[in-house]
Amino acid sequence: MARIVIIGGGTAGLAVAARLRRAGQSDITIIEPSARHFYQPLWTLVGGGTVAREATVQPEARYMPQGVRWIRDSVAELAPERRSVTTAGGSTIDYDFLVVASGLEMDYEKIPGLREALAGEGVSTNYSYDLAPKTWRAISSFRGGVALFHMPGTPIKCPGAPQKIMYLAADHFRRKGISRDARVIYGSATPSIYGVPQFAAVLNGVLERYGIDARFNHELVEIRPEKREAVFRNTKTSDGEQVVIPYDLMHVAPPQRAPEFVRKSALADPEKREGWLKVDKHTLRNPDYPEVFALGDVTNTPNAKTGAAAARQAPVAVENLLAAIAGKEPAARYDGYIACPIVTAYGKMLLCEADYTGKPAPSFPFLDTFRERYDMWLLKRYGLPWAYWNFILRGRSVPFLRAREVAQLAGARAESQYARP
Ligand SMILES: Cc1cc2nc3c(=O)[nH]c(=O)nc-3n(C[C@H](O)[C@H](O)[C@H](O)COP(=O)(O)OP(=O)(O)OC[C@H]3O[C@@H](n4cnc5c(N)ncnc54)[C@H](O)[C@@H]3O)c2cc1C
Repeated sequence: MARIVIIGGGTAGLAVAARLRRAGQSDITIIEPSARHFYQPLWTLVGGGTVAREATVQPEARYMPQGVRWIRDSVAELAPERRSVTTAGGSTIDYDFLVVASGLEMDYEKIPGLREALAGEGVSTNYSYDLAPKTWRAISSFRGGVALFHMPGTPIKCPGAPQKIMYLAADHFRRKGISRDARVIYGSATPSIYGVPQFAAVLNGVLERYGIDARFNHELVEIRPEKREAVFRNTKTSDGEQVVIPYDLMHVAPPQRAPEFVRKSALADPEKREGWLKVDKHTLRNPDYPEVFALGDVTNTPNAKTGAAAARQAPVAVENLLAAIAGKEPAARYDGYIACPIVTAYGKMLLCEADYTGKPAPSFPFLDTFRERYDMWLLKRYGLPWAYWNFILRGRSVPFLRAREVAQLAGARAESQYARP
């Protein structure tokens, strides 16, 4: 038996702890400061006015696996050379093996004016439990003008979330009959609407349907809340031309980075300004300190940071950690699987799933998931939250998300059947 310390009791931390308990490990400590556990994917629907924010939170204690020691504190310092962590409360905890699953933090200061704008009227973000209801207040009280939706160029959790809320807003304006008076603008630092061409084709159609003015390669550099202006830099121009967009409503996705204790540690990837924790993208093991594993939003793996990725990484991290405890080489490999359920209207969802190959990786081989679907909306609204609380956090595989593997076992050629050019 090894002393295992897990930093963070979010999606990844609890999933790993539950699996390790099931595998018979008995000396597990989770360091997690929060008494509340959030199902963040539903914050999109809180901002869209269809879910109460209280429906997205549960007591952390309810999901803490039995037999796991829970230290309600936050980690302030990592000392991998001494195999110990120090908490903000001043305790030092030694480990044999460490799992870092601390997620990421918002970097509000990176955009001048962002904090002030969020404190005032008309600007909100779904990236916060406290502010998601304000998004809906802004959308539902909007009477016309410019509704501006922002997407940064640096990695953020659920990179689809900034456009999901935009489609819900546009659909709401349509249903309310104010589309003609609403100018919806997408100010995005990315070069296109989505990285996987098959899904981008569908989403370009959605932009067109709503008449959204998409400005790509536009990086937000400042917000002037007193004038209700957002300043972007056009990264396509040689002189970084400044573009000022006046807004009446704005949704912001704050820039994000690794928590400070990771950024300043020897585990941070020196090549990433946001200080993501360095791991092998397949084994999830740190190359310099082989007793350290990490998963979820905190890592430097090149997949989109999503709960779906964390859920897929958890069994890999656990299998490799158990191998390391047994003195063996890690054999399990994370394939880069991510899922981004892009809500495109009330009652419509496009399930974007891909892996490190950059190609679609659909879970439901007998459904055409290359189009917007009502059943996928139901999956987002009801199926995934149910799977999250009852399977993922309990360290179990989600039965319906295994459909693809079952189909492959049965010899179905799912991908080629539905692949789009
Ligand atoms: C608006 C929004 C929409 C989203 N939509 C989707 C979606 O549709 N599909 C999807 O798959 N994903 C979605 N996500 C992303 C998903 O929620 C995250 O990718 C997922 O929760 C990552 O899991 P994690 O365990 O890495 O981080 P988290 O679940 O955030 O957990 C990190 C934990 O670490 C703790 N922690 C932080 N600092 C410390 C410290 N110093 N010491 C100890 N503990 C610490 C935190 O309190 C927290 O409990 C969405 C997120 C948002 C905000």
